[in-house]
Amino acid sequence: MVVARDHVPLIVGLQKCATNRLNIYFPAGTISVRDTDISFRCTVFNGHLCLQHPPSPLSLYYSTAEMARIHRQFGHTGADKVVEAFSPETFSPQDLKLLDRVVKHCDAGQ
Ligand SMILES: [Zn+2]
Repeated sequence: MVVARDHVPLIVGLQKCATNRLNIYFPAGTISVRDTDISFRCTVFNGHLCLQHPPSPLSLYYSTAEMARIHRQFGHTGADKVVEAFSPETFSPQDLKLLDRVVKHCDAGQ
């Protein structure tokens, strides 16, 4: 599912770290790949080791294709049901107009 402004942390499992030869360094907050120069930042969120969020996308608006995909993934339900499923600041007024248009012009499930 594509959610442009989600707040779900990307959790790193200790088992995955072991099987993928990743070393975790704290309190430095880095994960490095054993026997390489590759490392990346991590953080602890609610007691879980998490990857840091990537920088926000340049466009703050959803594209028609993204909105159509969200609409499909919610089983072709109405715009109100989609909006309810996200946190209130997720969609801009422009996004909501686009979502209405996507729902109205969708060929499936009408
Ligand atoms: Zn539809």
